[in-house]
Amino acid sequence: MLGPMGEFDLIARYFTRPARRAVLGVGDDCALLQPAPGTQLAISCDMLVEGRHFFPDVDPFALGHKALAVNLSDLAACGATPLAFTLALALPHADESWLEPFSRGLLALADAHNCELVGGDTTQGPLNICITVFGEVPVVGGKSQALLRSGARAGDDLYVSGTLGDARLALEALRGTLQLPAEALAQARTRLEQPTPRVALGQALRGVASAAIDVSDGLLGDLRHILTASGVGATIRTELAMDLAAAGSRLAVERAAISQEKQLEFVLSGGDDYELAFTAPMSARDAVRAASQLAQTPVTRIGSIESETGLRLVDAQGQLMPGRFSSFDHFA
Ligand code: ADP
Ligand code: MG
Repeated sequence: MLGPMGEFDLIARYFTRPARRAVLGVGDDCALLQPAPGTQLAISCDMLVEGRHFFPDVDPFALGHKALAVNLSDLAACGATPLAFTLALALPHADESWLEPFSRGLLALADAHNCELVGGDTTQGPLNICITVFGEVPVVGGKSQALLRSGARAGDDLYVSGTLGDARLALEALRGTLQLPAEALAQARTRLEQPTPRVALGQALRGVASAAIDVSDGLLGDLRHILTASGVGATIRTELAMDLAAAGSRLAVERAAISQEKQLEFVLSGGDDYELAFTAPMSARDAVRAASQLAQTPVTRIGSIESETGLRLVDAQGQLMPGRFSSFDHFA
């Protein structure tokens, strides 16, 4: 049993609101969605498990935000427009002081993206949050506008949105593996706990980017998925990638809390940033700039796609940097 407040009270109080875009929302056996004519449904699912994806004492408002943010980030990487989502929730007990801020954080981000909660499932168990999100992608002239991992071509530019590294920096600080000045931790912690899904950028890149992915596991690892799916390789210019370093890590370097080497490692392989990594033909540079402006999201060009498979890092002099990143040897 979930406690004094039963399952249905709980759903009614925290997760039921009148349907707006959906034909039918929470309360029946199924929800009903009506995708716009000429669109495809884009569907993605992500699960957050206590202990694995978040600390047990994390702020429930931030957790509600993050649970939806990581799913919206997948829609963004596909260039999809958010439509609706479902929430499957396992809770140890029905604690109102947890449920109230959790649902507030969740629904605030949902409202910001006009993405409705249309259904779910609620059960007692170890805290586990599973969201399935639905979005729309236009089909133009019989061709889906979805951004895929498989579209990168030799000669394309390689870009990343926003900044990288702070989520990992915060994670290490919270685990106690490094010490940070309070200000740097505060900056970095927001990136870890309340990531911003790049939904507007993803949509603006439809018809512009050749391939895209969201950076959840670390840039090098996620980029590898694009390279594999597209059958190509890439070179990253590390001095350009350093421009991606986020505010918390810049402050941490300034105050000598971490080395520049560590900062670069966090940029290249830290996870949980939820930025977009994408490729676009050189001829689309103006269009990429326009998309970035339209979405009010900065993007940085950090390298290029090549026909030679594998991932190469070069320094400011164009020299290959092998040994320094030996842990990434499996990309070679
Ligand atoms: P069923 O027995 O048909 O699976 P439930 O009793 O589990 O239905 O749920 C009742 C209604 O509440 C359904 O419309 C379901 O989608 C919705 N629902 C259940 N849990 C949640 C939740 N955590 N968030 C949103 N809607 C939920
Ligand atoms: Mg059910």
